[in-house]
Amino acid sequence: MKHEKIHVACCICGGGPAGIMLGYLLARAGIKVAVLEKHKDFFRDFRGDTIHPSTIQLMYELDLLGAFLKVPHQEIDHLTAQFNGVDVLVADFKHLPVAKPILALMPQWDFLNFITAAAEKYSTFKLYRETIATQLVKDNNEVRGIMATTPDGELEITADLVIGADGRNSIIRKLAGLRVIETGVPIDVLWFRLARQKGDPGQTFGRFEKGRIMVLLDRDEYWQCALVIAKGDYDNIKAAGLDAFRTEIEQITPFLAHHTEVLKSWDDINLLSVAIDHLEKWYAPGLLCIGDAAHAMSPVGGVGINLAIQDAVATANILYRSLAAGKTITPAQLYAVQRRRQLPARLIQRVQVYVQNGMVKRRADIALSQRMPLALKILKRFRILSRVPARIVGMGVRPEHIRTPEVK
Ligand SMILES: Cc1cc2nc3c(=O)[nH]c(=O)nc-3n(C[C@H](O)[C@H](O)[C@H](O)COP(=O)(O)OP(=O)(O)OC[C@H]3O[C@@H](n4cnc5c(N)ncnc54)[C@H](O)[C@@H]3O)c2cc1C
Repeated sequence: MKHEKIHVACCICGGGPAGIMLGYLLARAGIKVAVLEKHKDFFRDFRGDTIHPSTIQLMYELDLLGAFLKVPHQEIDHLTAQFNGVDVLVADFKHLPVAKPILALMPQWDFLNFITAAAEKYSTFKLYRETIATQLVKDNNEVRGIMATTPDGELEITADLVIGADGRNSIIRKLAGLRVIETGVPIDVLWFRLARQKGDPGQTFGRFEKGRIMVLLDRDEYWQCALVIAKGDYDNIKAAGLDAFRTEIEQITPFLAHHTEVLKSWDDINLLSVAIDHLEKWYAPGLLCIGDAAHAMSPVGGVGINLAIQDAVATANILYRSLAAGKTITPAQLYAVQRRRQLPARLIQRVQVYVQNGMVKRRADIALSQRMPLALKILKRFRILSRVPARIVGMGVRPEHIRTPEVK
């Protein structure tokens, strides 16, 4: 077994949206980066697929928008909810002040492959696949690097800065002893695909029918479906049997009546556990957590990928000069990243909590109130107000812009 040692300016643990984007931005600015990703590829079914206008704007600022739009995707310029058969315009992106005011539905593995390919043009970028971060290398309580396992043996990476971008089950934040504050979440999500058929309607965002919530994303060949259930209720749903589950889907979404036979076993349905939490402190000497590792997001609003990317941009903007100069990154600089990004993340989490609690009244009760929520009633009456959720969902709070240079 090999024991390899390398040194980089920044070692990023986790090749999700936060890690890959930060790796790209730093490498583009001439900074030597290693990104460690435990999987062989990005191809996993449970990854969210929504690229919001804030990220599209970043692609424009990076001069990547033309190439990005060539990657197969669907474009949405508004989101609609259907509540007991009544359509409500929830978010209208058309008026957002960005280069292309759309939400792109792109499989996340395609998006990550796209950014990785852009990053690999710089000799300063290296993605280590099938490489699992296992330990922090410390010197006098200061993080100096990472120990990782690879298919060939051990890899020791020393770095001026270690980034924990390893998602909501982050081992990095655990190893660093950072305190996690959890927010109770009453929902989980069942995630499955149904083939599209001739005559199916166009895109709808959320369907609120018969006290149930289902989100349908039109992926051209198939519907990506997400059924909201009460946390812990999956075993009861399974016990009721697949036929009962199919019937329920068809009751919520009658046009799917002849689509559900593709669900042959429970293996065709993924249970995605929903979590919301945040770190009290995102950093320790020599180490910073970003993305879901710093603030795990619920799927409500489909904003987590975009927030993770915003964290990456802010981190690069604030730290690139010191990293490029080989200077020690001070706790004050790391705190500056937290100060900049915690408000946007926490505000969106509060909105998610508000929406989730409205979805599930009691823990064991998945039934939604049959009355249209006040917020939807207002949006239905005053369509122009749909620009407000468009702004919150599409751009987030305090949108970031590219301030890092390209060093060739
Ligand atoms: C059911 C569900 C649906 C969602 N749908 C959407 C959506 O449609 N749109 C949206 O914007 N957000 C969605 N989200 C939220 C979104 O998935 C996250 O907020 C986002 O992926 C966070 O990005 P990240 O880069 O911080 O972390 P992640 O995407 O979790 O990436 C972390 C990466 O680190 C790797 N890793 C973990 N541990 C190690 C280790 N020890 N060593 C090396 N690598 C490691 C993982 O393999 C992974 O690739 C959804 C969330 C859930 C639960």
